Amino acid sequence: MSPSLSNSESLRRTMVEKQIVARGICDKNVIDAMLRVPRERFVSPDCFTQAYEDKALPVGPGQTISQPFIVAYMTQMLMVEPGHRVLEVGTGTGYQTAILAQIGARICTVELDDNLLRSAMHRLTEMNLAANVSFRSGDGAKAYRDVAPFDRILVTAGSQLLPEELVGQVGCGGLMIIPVGRGKTQMMLRIRVRDGVRIEQPLIACRFVPLV
Ligand code: SAH
Repeated sequence: MSPSLSNSESLRRTMVEKQIVARGICDKNVIDAMLRVPRERFVSPDCFTQAYEDKALPVGPGQTISQPFIVAYMTQMLMVEPGHRVLEVGTGTGYQTAILAQIGARICTVELDDNLLRSAMHRLTEMNLAANVSFRSGDGAKAYRDVAPFDRILVTAGSQLLPEELVGQVGCGGLMIIPVGRGKTQMMLRIRVRDGVRIEQPLIACRFVPLV
């Protein structure tokens, strides 16, 4: 069924029930945000009918919008709270950015591809979700010393190694989530920084487009 305006809400409810809550996501803020953000606005017209399916979708050459469960899982594991300062590396379509914005985070999102960044900015502005988002063009793996440190850092592209400069921008008591691996798949890592000590926790295997 095509997600027309009238049934997109019910498709979203089914997606949240079957793909997200059924797989153990229980953070109320995350569930609420996933129920509110219309995913069909982020996919290309030829994938419109698949907007609520349990998979990543292509959005351009070599680019994807992540599977809904992965977005929910990363957001839950990041333990985002309203008012948190979040750095997101890899804006892509802006769907993950929209989920973070819906939760009430203050976000700095960085994207290498200017066209993707512009479309994401346009979408979020139309959806009234851009007020607390600063959109930056460039290499997000570099340091953003003018705006660091962050309460949370979320990298939505797979890195071969842990980018030390980025870890250094996690504030005290902060968290970072990043997929790391040399092959086609990566291990999603959660890094906790407290009193200068860093604790790395492997979460799940995943497959993201490469961090360039
Ligand atoms: N979270 C996105 C999906 C991101 S796909 C969504 O919800 O749609 C990964 C994105 O990371 C791609 O758009 C890619 O262009 C971008 N990217 C890759 N390397 C990057 C880098 N070094 N800095 C910023 N963005 C990068």
